[in-house]
Amino acid sequence: MSKRKRKSRNLCHQAPGKSTVLPDVSANPQWKHLAGNPGMDRNGPIGPFHEAHGINDDPMCRHAESNRWPGAPKGRGGHMKKIDLARSVIRSHSHLFMCPLCGATMNMNGSNSLICSNRHCFDLSRSGSIHLLSNPVKRTKYDKQMFESRLAVNKSGFFANMAETIHHLVSCASTNTNAKCIRVLDAGCGEGSHLADLVKNLGSTGSGVLGVGMDLSKDGVRIAAREYPGLIWCVADLARSPFKDQQFDVILNIFSPSNYSEFARILHDDGILMKIVPGRDYLKELRRVFHGQAHKQTYSNEQVLTHFSKHFQPVKNRQIKYVNRIDPSELKDLIHMTPLSWGTKEENIQKALQSDIFSVTVDVTVVVGKKSRSI
Ligand SMILES: [Zn+2]
Repeated sequence: MSKRKRKSRNLCHQAPGKSTVLPDVSANPQWKHLAGNPGMDRNGPIGPFHEAHGINDDPMCRHAESNRWPGAPKGRGGHMKKIDLARSVIRSHSHLFMCPLCGATMNMNGSNSLICSNRHCFDLSRSGSIHLLSNPVKRTKYDKQMFESRLAVNKSGFFANMAETIHHLVSCASTNTNAKCIRVLDAGCGEGSHLADLVKNLGSTGSGVLGVGMDLSKDGVRIAAREYPGLIWCVADLARSPFKDQQFDVILNIFSPSNYSEFARILHDDGILMKIVPGRDYLKELRRVFHGQAHKQTYSNEQVLTHFSKHFQPVKNRQIKYVNRIDPSELKDLIHMTPLSWGTKEENIQKALQSDIFSVTVDVTVVVGKKSRSI
């Protein structure tokens, strides 16, 4: 490791998720390499990875067009560390970011950190996720096991029909945009499967796409980075999104809270917001076990959809409803992937696991909206 690189890393020695202020680079010639670099344009610097691979535009789009998993780590000898791939992709797209602490422009230089012009520093994790929280967050009930279960369920194809609809709607919307590369943000990406499915599906039909996932949960984002390298995975707070204005063509918001003012700020004027909310019969077979007949009276997405329409102009509304046959071995992951079992006695969970549930319903509403001023 070079002396310069070692010093850069030492500046950001804190655990991922925390930020620090770097020394005043202008006052010390030793840190000149961290100062504003006239060689960095809006699209960020061209790094060694791009030079070595002859890539001087958007590596994510290039990958998508070649119809292989865009995140497949590949380098000399066929291997590339996830952190190196993440650094390369983020460096190419550092113009998307703004500092969550001060709002300044950010750049990723030779170190594994995004650094703003006021020298706030945010680190990449070993798995390649970037931690952009302005404040530490309390741990939630959304723990690692829950995201691992969600990953297993997603990989089983449980949401395949829903993924097809998302792909179709995004494809339709993207025919109206002139963007060569569709930038998709999944706000509340969890373990990343829904975004990864969309990026893969868009790539298979020849569309250029950049996928960016954001979630408050470090556990979820770490799994996403582990499973789907090559996309940008951020631990960040939706209320203080670390992105500049109008950077995204599509914002996905799946089973996750919204912040409509932030969505409006970071979405391109011609972009779409796609929110997916559970319907009345979503996982009804499981809810029946946990909540009895009360589940029908306590579950409605009407309020959520009304709230959506107050901030964004709905242009499409689809209900997706289908029944999945499930293997008994899949039931455990299904139960653990949702908050349904929270606060439930262990005996009730065991009862559910031993119940005769052989099929489970997916019932969701997909609402697509545009910024009101762009209608
Ligand atoms: Zn800053």
